[in-house]
Amino acid sequence: MDNIKQTDKEFVADTYARFDIEIVDGKGSKLYDENGKEYIDLATGIAVNTFGACDSEWISAVSAQLSKFQHTSNLYYSAPCAKLAKLLCERTGAKKVFFGNSGAEANECAIKVARKWAQDTKGEGDYNIITLKNSFHGRTITTLKATGQDVFHKDFGPFPEGFLYAEANNIDSVKDLVKNNKCAAVMMELVQGEGGVLPLNTDFVKDVFALAKEENILVIIDEVQTGNGRTGALYAYMNFGVTPDIITTAKGLGGGLPIGATMLFEKVENTLNKGSHGSTFGGNPIACAGAVSIIERLDQSTLDGVNERSEYIFNALKGAKGIKSVSGMGLMLGIETEKDSTEVIKKCMEKGILPIKAKTKIRLLPALNIPMDELKYAIEILKEAAGE
Ligand SMILES: *Cc1c(COP(=O)(O)O)cnc(C)c1O
Repeated sequence: MDNIKQTDKEFVADTYARFDIEIVDGKGSKLYDENGKEYIDLATGIAVNTFGACDSEWISAVSAQLSKFQHTSNLYYSAPCAKLAKLLCERTGAKKVFFGNSGAEANECAIKVARKWAQDTKGEGDYNIITLKNSFHGRTITTLKATGQDVFHKDFGPFPEGFLYAEANNIDSVKDLVKNNKCAAVMMELVQGEGGVLPLNTDFVKDVFALAKEENILVIIDEVQTGNGRTGALYAYMNFGVTPDIITTAKGLGGGLPIGATMLFEKVENTLNKGSHGSTFGGNPIACAGAVSIIERLDQSTLDGVNERSEYIFNALKGAKGIKSVSGMGLMLGIETEKDSTEVIKKCMEKGILPIKAKTKIRLLPALNIPMDELKYAIEILKEAAGE
């Protein structure tokens, strides 16, 4: 048998610092490696496998579509795409949805929409988009530029113009940029995920929305990671009492298949028109059929379950030995440990649980339906690893 790790090292582009584990099988929140060792998964492929590995309802939804047809171009109608768009609009108040295949692509679409909206309604020069320092919006050239972290800008310039960075939780910083530049939109995550699982203050978020209204600019909320039940609401903006003009999502939407969505609210519902944007795989029937089954299951009782599990984790880790702080919302949590997080994660892995990192924190993104006994066990292991 091939040594998979060796083959990967030899032939796959060297962009990922992989853990020394090959995943060969999984069910629910349990994953198995090449030696048959069992792990409790606390990261779900970075918030992707919403209901865990090989969830049977999701498999049924995907397989039913798979046996009909796997793809059609966007030159024809197909049911899963239309159904998913309707469902997302009904559940959010959005008016239209554009489908792509990833978070970066969803954000690219949002940026295009904001610029076209500004050009259509305000004139040529109002193209600037304000994002926040420490944000993360994707890996394409434009979404890298939108990402407010210098480390991501090294080596890949020149970048497109028109991105300005404000301080998170500092409304004056946003105000300064809006007043001194011609802007189309503010774009932000409500919990900065890759930046270290940092929720924005509710007051700041409300102030940004008020400012945007006053200044006639759009608010784009990047819900690529926070969306689809992850924070205990269907979309995180619902926790903040605001209504965005555009939301983008991806990761957990497909439950494990690549899909991205850009949801367009009233102000921008007619900004895109025929020929103004497109994506060959966008609205793929298999991915959309999976996503319909995910969104349909994100009802109040599932979301209550997310909040219960979240509360359990906060309580269990509060004041625990070796734990400095816990941040985040719902089942998107960042844990600051006294010991180096890499060391703690290594110990966790030895003991059969799989968290990941965000900056210097340990990040938890478990399945929204992780069985309570498995979660409790995993948190005990994590406490042991951090407190030893
Ligand atoms: C992961 C992520 C992205 C990028 O998504 P991809 O699917 O990797 O392109 C964008 N924004 C946020 C907030 C993310 O967490």
